[in-house]
Amino acid sequence: MTRPGFWPSENKMPLLDVPHALCQSCRQCCHFLSPPEMTPFASRTKTGHIPVEFNPAGEAIGMVKENREGFPVWTCSRLNETSAVCRSWPEHPLDCRIYPLVFTLDGGDPFIALDTTCPYTVQNPLAFFQKKALELRDRYWNHWTEPQKKALCQQFVLDTFPDRILLLRLPNPEQ
Ligand code: SF4
Ligand code: SF4
Repeated sequence: MTRPGFWPSENKMPLLDVPHALCQSCRQCCHFLSPPEMTPFASRTKTGHIPVEFNPAGEAIGMVKENREGFPVWTCSRLNETSAVCRSWPEHPLDCRIYPLVFTLDGGDPFIALDTTCPYTVQNPLAFFQKKALELRDRYWNHWTEPQKKALCQQFVLDTFPDRILLLRLPNPEQ
C-alpha cells in the first residue's frame, strides 16, 4: 500500500542503502534463530504504542517457522525469498531500513548501536554511521511521545547482541 504524501519529500525516512548485491550474497537479514530477538518491532505480539514509522505500510508482519538442516529458522512473512527483496519496500519498517544500526538498551539507557556482524559495517567509516545515528535521534527519537519511547524501550531490551558498537546514547523517556 502506498500513501501519497505520507512521507513529504523533504522528510523521507532514512535508509541505509546497503547494496542489494551484498545482501543477496549474505542473506543474513529477515531470518531469525530466536525470535522475538532482533525481529521487526511491528512483528512482535506486544508492540503496544509504537510510532507509525515502524510499520508505515500498515501490513501485518509475521514469522514463518521452517526447518533448515535440522535447525528451526523463522523467516519474516514480508520477505520474497527468491529475489531477497522485502514485499513492503520502500515502506518497510524503520528498524529494517536502518539496519545495521539498531536501537538497543545498555545499562537501562537507550542507545543507537552498530551491529558489526553485518558485512556492510566494514565498507564504511564509523563516522558515516555516527552521522546516521544523529539523524535518527534528531528526526525521530526527539519527536516521538514519551509513551512511544517507553514502549520502544520495552522492545529494545529483547535485542541482545554481543558484536555491537554503541554509537549514540539517546535521551531517556521522561518518567
Ligand atoms: S547482514 Fe547486512 S549485508 Fe547481510 S543481508 Fe543484512 S543488511 Fe544485507
Ligand atoms: S519487514 Fe521486510 S525488511 Fe523487515 S524483516 Fe521483514 S522482510 Fe525483512
